[in-house]
Amino acid sequence: MNNIESLTTHFPQALTTHRYLAHLREAIEPLGFNRSNTFTCTSVCRDELCQSLTAGVGEFWQHPYIVGGMAGLPPGGIETWQVGMTHIPDSIGRGKILVVAAAHIGIAPDGSLGTVLRYGQSSVTPICGALGAAAKALSTKEGISSTDVHSEIGWLVHSLNEVGAAELSSDILALTLKCAEVIDSHIWASLNSLSARTANDIVVATGVQIHTHDDTDHILPIATNHMDADGVVTTLDVS
Ligand SMILES: [Zn+2]
Repeated sequence: MNNIESLTTHFPQALTTHRYLAHLREAIEPLGFNRSNTFTCTSVCRDELCQSLTAGVGEFWQHPYIVGGMAGLPPGGIETWQVGMTHIPDSIGRGKILVVAAAHIGIAPDGSLGTVLRYGQSSVTPICGALGAAAKALSTKEGISSTDVHSEIGWLVHSLNEVGAAELSSDILALTLKCAEVIDSHIWASLNSLSARTANDIVVATGVQIHTHDDTDHILPIATNHMDADGVVTTLDVS
């Protein structure tokens, strides 16, 4: 199985990044989110391969505020969000916050998951490397107990362990999907702790970003939700 066959086999619902963002725009425009009034954030891994999604958000809306740390998980502290919330455009009516978030995974030329052939390199490397390091720590009790939650990897290990992801440490696809869920729940927890909905409508769109060496990135949508002033959450269709 080559990488493209693997992509369609493992991720039949995945869309190219451009198509995903176009569908997201179509879903949120009726809710009043547009290029001039929307404050965008991205929460993607520090890996350079993830920045095509950051750039895509900038093309569809505005350059995003960056909240993601390693593996795409925002840091544990609330300060990153507090600063970002001061950047929201003044609008007539309520502010608009759009967070585009992703865990990520690569597909090797032979179709296997969890590595990718990078530009200028002759052999594959792990992706997400941070998630791979977290998986190693999760697979041993020592790795968890020695976790320093003030480091990004330690925070990732701690957050994954809290949701029982240690059992998934040998399954990179399952762990990546779980990581996306953890990223999404951390983002909502941070926004809710700041009562962001009091003055803003919020959309958080979380997926898994999929890389191959010879095709454009794809996004598998995981959770796409809108919260209004009353805290009512509506799931949006971006398929
Ligand atoms: Zn990564």
